[in-house]
Amino acid sequence: MIKKIMQDYSKEELSEMIKPSFRAKQLYSWIYHKYADSFDNMQNLPKRMREELKNEFTLLPLKMLTVQDSVDGSRKYLFELYDGHTVEVVLLLMRDKVYHEDGSLKHQERYTVCISSQVGCKVGCAFCLTAKGGFMRDLTTGEIIEQVRQVKMDNNIDANRRVNLVFMGMGEPLDNLNAVSRAVKIFADPDGMAISVHRQTISTSGLSSKIKKLGDMDLGVNLAISLHAVDDELRQQLMPINRAYNIKSIIDAVKEFPINSRKRVMFEYLVIKGVNDDISAAKKLLSLLDGIKAKVNLIYFNPYGGTEFRRPEEKGMVEFQEFLLKRGLLCTIRESKGLDISAACGQLREQSKENI
Ligand code: SAH
Ligand code: SF4
Repeated sequence: MIKKIMQDYSKEELSEMIKPSFRAKQLYSWIYHKYADSFDNMQNLPKRMREELKNEFTLLPLKMLTVQDSVDGSRKYLFELYDGHTVEVVLLLMRDKVYHEDGSLKHQERYTVCISSQVGCKVGCAFCLTAKGGFMRDLTTGEIIEQVRQVKMDNNIDANRRVNLVFMGMGEPLDNLNAVSRAVKIFADPDGMAISVHRQTISTSGLSSKIKKLGDMDLGVNLAISLHAVDDELRQQLMPINRAYNIKSIIDAVKEFPINSRKRVMFEYLVIKGVNDDISAAKKLLSLLDGIKAKVNLIYFNPYGGTEFRRPEEKGMVEFQEFLLKRGLLCTIRESKGLDISAACGQLREQSKENI
């Protein structure tokens, strides 16, 4: 019998399934605070209950296959699922500048976990290595949750320590909206990992109808749009999904999306040398995002073997950024986190295939 994955269930669901219902909160504490990997050592549960849980549920739906460290402190994991498929997760360590009231500057380390939502991806973007392997299947809620739990466990990250989550690993999260939205809520449970929805970001290639659906759910999560091109013709070449959902439909969906008053929608712009890095694109971007509380995140294209696309030079990136900044559009350049360990999505998995 295939066992149920404990992490698939919300605390409310568990309290329906396991009686008396206060046990659900205890279980959550063992799983998400104490990082239990077996039911055996859940001391405050009766022995019989532990045996029953053991027969019915599993706590370890992912097996850690490889870990790779980058010089910049990011760490990349490859996990195996019960059916042999693999997914990637990246732990990023960012150093934030924090200004104190007396004006002094301190650095604060912040963890961000970049998680996968599917094995492969149906969207098929031309620049993306995940797409090259095709689509295998959706991840379950528990498989999504477990990525973060295992990474926290492996790095001894205290349960109380703040972490951010980005659905920017493998897969299109809005193509697996049911499991993803359930995971968002379980992540946010104050009796579990307590990762506030404001610290979770869903990144999408722009499935406009699903953006609307996500908005209607009113989860409170942050939204990131992988735009990458400012006219439909080029975007269609880079991202075939643009045929079904063009730029206008995305912008319209974003305009209706409920955004926390202190937040902005992030527009990711993957810069590919000689393809979309012209200043005229920056100009168009400015008018496209007019009237939206937006911020732009420029990403260096991360090359891999066999791709025709090239990484832009720093000079061009900075010019693009400054053009937008000078005209009042917030714009950051994503550091090439983990470039030496090929941290762009899909790259570790491809390497491991080559090594076998
Ligand atoms: N499917 C979702 C989320 C996962 S992809 C989406 O597309 O938004 C997360 C980000 O990685 C996307 O912005 C994607 O464009 C970017 N990406 C894909 N391949 C890349 C590469 N080779 N170099 C840099 N970023 C890449
Ligand atoms: Fe899928 Fe995102 Fe890769 Fe496009 S960039 S193929 S949507 S994972």
